[in-house]
Amino acid sequence: MNEFALNLDRYPAYVYDLPGLESHVRAICAALPGTEVYYAAKANPDPEILRTLAPHVDGVEVSSGGELAHVRETLPSMPVAFGGPGKTADELALSRTLKADRIHVESPNELARLGALGPADILLRANLPVHAPNAALTMGGPFGMDEDTLDHCARLLAGYPNLTLRGVHAHLASGLEAPVMLGLAHQIAEWAIPWLRSQGVDDPELNVGGGMAVDYTAPESRFDWQTYGAGLSRIPVKIRIEPGRAMTAYHGWYVTDVLDVKTTRGETYAILRGGTHHLRTPVTKGHDQPFKALTANGPERPVTLVGQLCTPKDVFARDVLVPSLAPGDVIAFTMAGAYAWNISHHDFLMHPKPAFHYRRWPDPAQSAARAPVPAP
Ligand SMILES: *Cc1c(COP(=O)(O)O)cnc(C)c1O
Repeated sequence: MNEFALNLDRYPAYVYDLPGLESHVRAICAALPGTEVYYAAKANPDPEILRTLAPHVDGVEVSSGGELAHVRETLPSMPVAFGGPGKTADELALSRTLKADRIHVESPNELARLGALGPADILLRANLPVHAPNAALTMGGPFGMDEDTLDHCARLLAGYPNLTLRGVHAHLASGLEAPVMLGLAHQIAEWAIPWLRSQGVDDPELNVGGGMAVDYTAPESRFDWQTYGAGLSRIPVKIRIEPGRAMTAYHGWYVTDVLDVKTTRGETYAILRGGTHHLRTPVTKGHDQPFKALTANGPERPVTLVGQLCTPKDVFARDVLVPSLAPGDVIAFTMAGAYAWNISHHDFLMHPKPAFHYRRWPDPAQSAARAPVPAP
């Protein structure tokens, strides 16, 4: 066992390094003077994570009534922005009783339903024709509104004196590096600032979304928050961002042990306790999850790391080089702090749930954790 060999009692286990997360978020916010940072709760709404981020961020962005109630209960005095398409009547009503500080309005229908409920501060979500090279995911589809629909909302607002237009929200793409993200923010500002002023909004707010790049093939790399912060500070209105993945991905680990190793039809598999029903990230993103073999250190061999599920899709990393493994060896998957446990199909096959630990854990940037190396 090495420096990672903290006694976890049983596997699989999630380990969240809260002190590491706190330093990370502190550095992010320090690089963004004058920009408001809201954490996108959907990346990982674990209460301990929310409480760790809370002293450093300006607010939390939620995308459902469930998230709204959870964040209000966990962090009662934290400013909350409520977004997402398809808000139900109950969710809109909840947003009023729980006093969400900002509502991101997605359509004229939603505007009318919200307007009937009482006072609210709103941002209109825009779907602008921006250019974003190399985005992992562009948010085309049912998100936000075109310019003519935004004009229509502005006219409707005259009939809803309860609603106060505060600004524009635009989360247009994800997986972008800082220079491209900045280009997007400037394109949004170029359209939104004059438009908001023409609607009589004196002190406009621009929420330019989340989506900062997290590179699973380079666990030690980080989004360039310094460049992003410096560029955003040149936009002459209040800017708000809502990162999720780039905040919490790096400080979660899924640690588990090898149950069996076997070779069939020429391919060697290490079968691990647990599976992608606990850590769905590699399947949804189509990547090899970065990992570190904590106990094995023999010569490296090509292995496919799989879980216990009865489906060929239950793969963490395919045909990667790993020190030769035996039952009982321990593997720690890194970058499992965002869109990991909370997006996974926990109940499939009814295996036991992982344990959860909140403690210091070596940073992947300082440890030998590395991107999986494909077998030659
Ligand atoms: C998912 C989402 C985010 C966070 O995106 P990340 O890629 O996790 O940074 C922010 N805003 C909105 C509206 C979202 O849907």
